Parts: sequence; C-alpha cells; structure tokens
Amino acid sequence: MLHARIDLGAVAHNIGVLRDRSGADVMAVVKADGYGHGAAPVARAALAAGACAIGTATLPEALALREAGIGAPITCWLLSSDLDFGPAIDADIEVAVSSPRVLASVIDAAHQSGKTARVGLKIDTGLGRSGVAPDEWETTRDLVAKAVAEESISFGSLMSHLARGDEVDHRLNDEQVARLDQCRADLGRLGVAPTVEHIANSPAALARPDLARDMVRPGLAVYGRTPLPHIGDFGLIPAMTLTAEVILVKHLARGSGVSYNHTWVTPRDTTIAILPAGYADGVPRAIAGKFAVSINGRMFPSVGRVCMDQVVVDLGPDGGGVGEGDRAELFGTGADGGATALDWANASDTIDYEIISGIRGRRVRTYI
Ligand code: PLP
Repeated sequence: MLHARIDLGAVAHNIGVLRDRSGADVMAVVKADGYGHGAAPVARAALAAGACAIGTATLPEALALREAGIGAPITCWLLSSDLDFGPAIDADIEVAVSSPRVLASVIDAAHQSGKTARVGLKIDTGLGRSGVAPDEWETTRDLVAKAVAEESISFGSLMSHLARGDEVDHRLNDEQVARLDQCRADLGRLGVAPTVEHIANSPAALARPDLARDMVRPGLAVYGRTPLPHIGDFGLIPAMTLTAEVILVKHLARGSGVSYNHTWVTPRDTTIAILPAGYADGVPRAIAGKFAVSINGRMFPSVGRVCMDQVVVDLGPDGGGVGEGDRAELFGTGADGGATALDWANASDTIDYEIISGIRGRRVRTYI
C-alpha cells in the first residue's frame, strides 16, 4: 500500500514559525486539497495552532470546508461572474473578486438573498494573473463604495499576490505592496476600509516581515517546505512522508532487463523490490533512475522506468536484508538522510509544490 503520513503536529509548529517570523496574523492556504495533505485536517490543525483564517482558490473548496464543520473565516479568490454566489453568502464565505463583473454578480446575489455578502478585493498589483486590472480599479472601487453604503456587502480583505516573492529583495515586491497600500488609501478617501490587507505568501512571510500588512497568506510553508532553500529551512518541519510497502522481492540474473524498454539492465546478479507506486499516484515519470528510497535505514536506488503503478528498486546481490512487507520511504523530512520532495522536484525539473500537491491516486492518508 502507498501511504502518505501527514504530521499535523508539524503543521501546528509551522504556523507558529510563520506567526513568529512575520509578526502578523496567518491565513493558512489549503487550496488543492491542502497541497495534497487534506484540506480539512490541515485547516483544523492550523486554526488550533493560531491561524486566524483559511484561504482556498475556489468556492467549492471553501464550501467543502464549511461542510466539514470549519466555522472560522474562509476566503476564496478564483471566481467567475457566472457563479452562483448564494451558497457563499449563506455559508458566510468571503469571496475576493477580481473584476467589477464578478463584484456585480455577488451584489446581485446579495440583493436576491436579502443578506449581506462578505466581499474582498483581489488586486493585480503586478503579477499579471487574476486580480483587478489597473484600468478597472476605479469602476471596482466605486462599486464597492456604493455596495458598502447600501449594506449589500461587507468589505473584508484587500489582497494581492506577489510575482517575485521568492526573489526576496526584488524591488517589484516593494512596488506591489505600495500599489496595494495606494488602493487602501484610495478606498479610504471614499470612506471604505478593509478589515485586513494581505499580500505576503510563504517566502515573504518568512523573509520580508516588512511586507506583511495585517495578515500573511502562506501555503507551502504551512506544509513545512521552505520556499527559499538557498537561505534555509527556517525551522519548518515537512508534514508529508510518503512510504510504500515492499510487495515483492525477487532475484534477477546478470543481464536481465528491468521495467519498460529495459532502460536498466542488471550489471550483476541482483535482487529487486517492487513498490506499489507510480505516475498515476504522483511519482513523476521523469525521476526514473534519479532517486533512491530508504528501507530499514538504508538507501537503495530506483532502477528502470517508473510505471503507472510500480517502482523497481535494486537491493543489490545480497538483498540488503529487505523482505516483503517492509516499508520503503520515498520521501520525507530528509532528517534521516532520506529523499525529500525537493529532491524529487530537482530531479524532475519542477518545484516541490507540484510534487506534494500531485500525490494522489491510490495513496492512503493517515494523520498523526
Ligand atoms: N495566495 C494566493 C492567491 C495563492 O495563489 C497562493 C498559492 O499559489 C498563496 C497565497 C500561497 O502561496 P505559497 O504557497 O507560495 O505560500
């Protein structure tokens, strides 16, 4: 069985690190099923550890958290104007809109329900992705002021997202924050004040406390992964350890081809182990032959192609003392010399965000 063990104590610890380093309140980002860790359990652990709010990308993600019994403030920000905002209003979820069209649609829903919608504004201060565009700012601002005055919305978050947060000293970070501050001042002139302003993602929360406004909005660091490996780990603890049971051990004679296309041929008589994990579960095909697994405290190289549901490991001629039923650690904290999600990312030319959020398929999650 493939097994993702999620250490919620590590999540709690990481929230503490983020609060201490940023000096701000924390909105824990649990989009994409908590970066592959499980959105609801992570949200609960983060809130218990002092996070003030939860962030998701989509409205269904936010609604699922409410259904799971999470009563804390939830903000979602990836919204289209044709969405039905009634459920968001009923569930008291903040919708952070990126255009006057989406805002108008939320206001309509508020009028229809006779209730006040909780609204935030997501401003494109330079990322060039979702967020209110500069040429739509005045229309959006005026619409917000009118809707606040008639009490069809209550205005919460003024937020934006950094384009170069991981280039911690890049001047664009300061420029983006200055633009967001300007929006706040501009709204203030119309008598409208957000309850919170936030822009800092994990790297900014950890390394640029001067950019934290009322709140920081980290994702990756909540899961214990440093967004700035060249600077350090900031004392974060990785929350996910991926293990697989050795389901088969067998001997192969020298010269035997292993896995599809025989990209690896045994250079000597050897013993191999089969692990039930593959690209359908999130093991990148591109790391074939470039990673090792830890079994009983020893490292063994993976060999041959990564298949849809199998990985082959070379145990060496003596079998390394490994037996069927033993557990192989594919990646974990790295503390014991084993591989980390970042090692996998480096070996497959991607980022660890993609590795951890991509663990899926037949993996079973357990929480400690
Ligand atoms: N805020 C927004 C709008 C995001 O899209 C994300 C993730 O990409 C985050 C915050 C969290 O970013 P990170 O995981 O780098 O901390």
